[in-house]
Amino acid sequence: MSLANGRHYLAIPGPSVIPDPVLQAMHRPAPNIYTGELVELTHGLIPDLKTIAGTSGHVALYITNGHGLWEASLTNMISRGDKVLVCVTGNFGHGWADVAARLGANVEILDFGKQAPVDPARLEAALRADTKHEIKVVLATHVDTATSVRNDIASIREAIDAAGHPAVFGVDSIASLGCDRFVMDAWGVDVMIAASQKGLMTPPGMGFVWFSEKARQEGQGNDLRTPYWDWETRAKPVHLYEYFDGTPPTHHLYGLRQAVTMILEEGLENVWERHETLARAYWAAVETWGQGGDLRFNIADPAYRSHAVSTLSLGAGDGTRLRTWLTEHLGITLGISLGFGDIGSSEAAGYFRIGHMGHINAHMVLGIIGAMETAFTALEIPHGEGGSVAAAKLLASRV
Ligand SMILES: *Cc1c(COP(=O)(O)O)cnc(C)c1O
Repeated sequence: MSLANGRHYLAIPGPSVIPDPVLQAMHRPAPNIYTGELVELTHGLIPDLKTIAGTSGHVALYITNGHGLWEASLTNMISRGDKVLVCVTGNFGHGWADVAARLGANVEILDFGKQAPVDPARLEAALRADTKHEIKVVLATHVDTATSVRNDIASIREAIDAAGHPAVFGVDSIASLGCDRFVMDAWGVDVMIAASQKGLMTPPGMGFVWFSEKARQEGQGNDLRTPYWDWETRAKPVHLYEYFDGTPPTHHLYGLRQAVTMILEEGLENVWERHETLARAYWAAVETWGQGGDLRFNIADPAYRSHAVSTLSLGAGDGTRLRTWLTEHLGITLGISLGFGDIGSSEAAGYFRIGHMGHINAHMVLGIIGAMETAFTALEIPHGEGGSVAAAKLLASRV
């Protein structure tokens, strides 16, 4: 029997749940792109996007997904042959490094594995060894969505400063902005990227690059600049079409306006605290289940776990069994594993991910926890009893 009818819950790490007010804001005929509401709305988004990022620097808007942002940021930051040091803590770090290499950068990877955060001491040593300061850019991922590690960005900045290194510091916050605390200027980040479809609760299709004046100055004249990705005009537009180098993403802008308003009305501190509390409900459940079975967090140390996505391992093949059963029988889709063995392999099938980013609340999290418990029971997957009770107690102690 299927109990899946009713609203399906796509609980994957992007695209995330789109709030009804965001959907409704997009439901309209094509707006005037020359004058009027959309022009004012777009200008008005700029200060709010800077507030969400915690910066007084610049922001450039693009019609793109996250992969496009990797290219947008790099083509502004570097020239062909420049040295780029990438701190990798999962598949998404490798992704940014790969784009840099394909653009012709001289890429050095510091790989911290799939279960640990960036070690600032190792980064500092690598930067000290670069006595001629050939490394132009240091890149890191705030939350790697494949491993669900959450890196301590301030400590990475401290390592760069401790080495006395002048490199520009770029951070991928696609999975974390609007979920985990992120304060660009206070943490000394020069360039930061985020896309619309995760914590920003808007459909995929828009991306943002925030950059400091230092990054802007150092990037001028780079030979990888192309007309579309160049951030100069986009960050200082006079006319609406200059924001996007052409027709603006009209309906996305209406949706994003609504989503940004919702974030600012809730308050960033409250948004971060809600994500942390709901993540901790999952942690409490998983810890309890794990006491009687194989379920484990990929990141053992809670201090380095994302509050927006959780990567979990189960027995061989059981991650995929669980996911498939939940979709077919209970109307919930969890995220596939990424970066653990080839897609379709038994190693990959042992992992799965839960997206808990953006427009989520306690009953949605409790619904998934109850659904997982139901699946464990139906599929006879060994697990400790009482996961949902542990989550309920955690939440009760926090509200
Ligand atoms: C989702 C994600 C990306 C890729 O975004 P796409 O829109 O799928 O191209 C890159 N980096 C991180 C950290 C992500 O979470």
